[in-house]
Amino acid sequence: MACRACGATCTLEQAQFALWTVRGLVALEGGQAWVCPACGESTNTEATARRLEYLTMTDFPNHEVVRRMEVPVYSLAAASGSVAGATNADEPAPVARGSNDTPKE
Ligand SMILES: [Zn+2]
Repeated sequence: MACRACGATCTLEQAQFALWTVRGLVALEGGQAWVCPACGESTNTEATARRLEYLTMTDFPNHEVVRRMEVPVYSLAAASGSVAGATNADEPAPVARGSNDTPKE
């Protein structure tokens, strides 16, 4: 399948992600998505999209839960660390630098 965004050839990969829903945070796994190696665009397969639509339209019913997991929760308001080059707290985050860039002091 060609990427809708850039036209590169996508590869079929396992899809797993989390969603905030009417039932709170839920994790979804076992789906498949076409992922673009060039730009990162991801498109669920038709079957995965149909199952996600079913779960959404039925408010994620208990009888479809396959397992439960506990996850750590972090605060983006209170995390105490910072990384080199961090700017003022209320300014927009800078555009991510490429891995070849060397930060200048
Ligand atoms: Zn692409």
